[in-house]
Amino acid sequence: MKLKALTLNGFKSFADKTKIEFTDGLTGIVGPNGSGKSNIIDALRWVLGEQSAKSLRGDKMADIIFGGSESRASLNRAEVSIEFDNTDQTLKRLPESVVICRRLYRSGESEFLINNKNVRLRDISELFMDTGVSRNSFSIISQGKVESVFNSKPEDRRYLIEEAAGISKYKKEKLKARSELMETTDHLDRVADVIIELD
Ligand code: ATP
Repeated sequence: MKLKALTLNGFKSFADKTKIEFTDGLTGIVGPNGSGKSNIIDALRWVLGEQSAKSLRGDKMADIIFGGSESRASLNRAEVSIEFDNTDQTLKRLPESVVICRRLYRSGESEFLINNKNVRLRDISELFMDTGVSRNSFSIISQGKVESVFNSKPEDRRYLIEEAAGISKYKKEKLKARSELMETTDHLDRVADVIIELD
């Protein structure tokens, strides 16, 4: 799976619609301090489902919407979309081109879309689980991250290894199955009690 393009519209310093295309090889983004390089990485993380405003270097989520400048009024909506080449079917049962889009309005309303179809945030998180592309994955290494991985707790480091090995999805399914099993055991206990009472 390849990242083809990232489009920002009203996201942080990107008031106008800006499309960044990723061709074969390495893409470097250069620019003076404060020109918006890190905002691009924030946009990438946000469209992949980031829920923490702090991780996006803000106080509240609405801080990601263009807040105005000397020459421009603030906007009421931020939109980011990301396009993947899915010819290798990394994202199962989806077409060769997959576009994920996230929108946030100042009113607090938000939308997630996969190929123009409204979905839940959970659908996006599940789609990318174990692909190495999820919002917390090792594919996005921000400033200071390498150091923090070395200094992190063994459990946190293990999470990264599990994501890389592709087993997080199965761990989540195991937890779900275990809680269903517990629920079923409770029901069986209740049935057993009723049977005893009837006897
Ligand atoms: P450096 O090289 O110093 O790390 P950078 O190129 O990574 O800088 P960013 O941190 O991406 O720069 O961008 C910071 C700029 O984005 C600041 O000028 C800030 O005012 C602007 N910015 C952040 N959020 C918003 C917003 N909601 N509306 C308008 N501008 C914003």
